[in-house]
Amino acid sequence: MIASSAPGLRREIAGVSVAELAERYGTPLYVYDAEMIRRRCRDLAAWDTVRFAQKACSNLAVLDLVRREGVLVDAVSTGEIHRALAAGYTPHAAKVASADGLPPAHPIVYTADIFDRASLDAVVKHGIHVNCGSADMIEQLAERMPGASITLRVNPGFGHGHSQKTNTGGEGSKHGIWHEEIPDVLRRAEWAGMQVSGLHMHIGSGTDLAHLAEVAEALERVAIEVGRSLTMVSAGGGLPVPYKPGEVHADLSGYFTLWDATRKRLEDRFGHRIRLEIEPGRYLTAESGFVITEVRAVKKQGTRKYLLVDAGFNTLARPVLYGSYHPMSICPQGDDAAQRLEEVAVGGPLCESGDIFTQTDGGFVATRPLPAAGAGDLLVIEIAGAYGFVMASNYNSKPLPAEVLVDGGSHRLVRARQTPEDLVRGECV
Ligand SMILES: *Cc1c(COP(=O)(O)O)cnc(C)c1O
Repeated sequence: MIASSAPGLRREIAGVSVAELAERYGTPLYVYDAEMIRRRCRDLAAWDTVRFAQKACSNLAVLDLVRREGVLVDAVSTGEIHRALAAGYTPHAAKVASADGLPPAHPIVYTADIFDRASLDAVVKHGIHVNCGSADMIEQLAERMPGASITLRVNPGFGHGHSQKTNTGGEGSKHGIWHEEIPDVLRRAEWAGMQVSGLHMHIGSGTDLAHLAEVAEALERVAIEVGRSLTMVSAGGGLPVPYKPGEVHADLSGYFTLWDATRKRLEDRFGHRIRLEIEPGRYLTAESGFVITEVRAVKKQGTRKYLLVDAGFNTLARPVLYGSYHPMSICPQGDDAAQRLEEVAVGGPLCESGDIFTQTDGGFVATRPLPAAGAGDLLVIEIAGAYGFVMASNYNSKPLPAEVLVDGGSHRLVRARQTPEDLVRGECV
């Protein structure tokens, strides 16, 4: 096998041939590198709890994999509670503190701004811990689970995200309980007989650490208002990953040190241990994921050259939603690859002009230097393991792609490609 040394070429994913994966499972195809997910879990070992925001990549095999790494899980819907249980998570914590004096961690936490009726039923049925993003949730839960302990998701009054759509703090965000409302909400919780055992803030996704760090200070102020019932603080998610050439990984140890100092000040004040959680989604799975597509047509529109592939924004929506950049590479059919790079726009099969993978924020079509490719060559879209498959849709009546896990040089199907029958299931004339 020829190494993928030339720029823009990739013949393997974690030691497995891209061509073989495409041949075996068809395209478009999601592929995850298990070892990369494990490595990202271990990067965060300093934190007492790493809680995976499964909405980033909720395939059961991925949940099982992070569970085996000791990572706990967040659920934002009834469906995500169901997935967590199906992947082997137990619904509630052992009632005993761990050897280091820390309070027990909840294996599954339901975090949301509302309960729909089904999620309230599921939480009550399984006794799942709730992180409340609105005061109404507290009262609705109190009626069904009197005396339960809860955590509060706080909106600190500011936020950041890689896009306005991923900013989850400030007045422009619907998320969390507004910081100035906390004293009132604490009174309502007390009145309802509920114990506030922790605080959580999540201000945005994929932002930079300097902004995320402001959260620690804001959380500390609110923690003091909550007082001694507090035994857990969560830094939320939002850890960035490098997507573009030249971007680098963030300073995770500096970030931990800052939060650890906040936690220790609160421990000194309250005289007991406080569990420190982090809640990454993107960080754990983004870099593990690849979309393998086949180039089906190459055409010129005036001076611009387009590669049209069999994946569209029904497969990977981040470019059309956020103008997100994903690295791409070509896996040529034959052994002799083109060494020549050419500027191309990459698009999909959908009947919509926004179906372009090389677009910038605002929907402008851009180009990318890629090795010259033709119909039948494969194109690999990289760093697609977070907010990839989970945002895929059936638009244009396209089946959801298959998902494959690569581990230790072998590969297995972890979700079958949808069939035409799947597409019309539940419909009738
Ligand atoms: C989406 C989300 C996360 C994860 O965000 P990432 O940017 O993927 O790390 C964490 N916590 C909550 C509550 C979320 O909604």
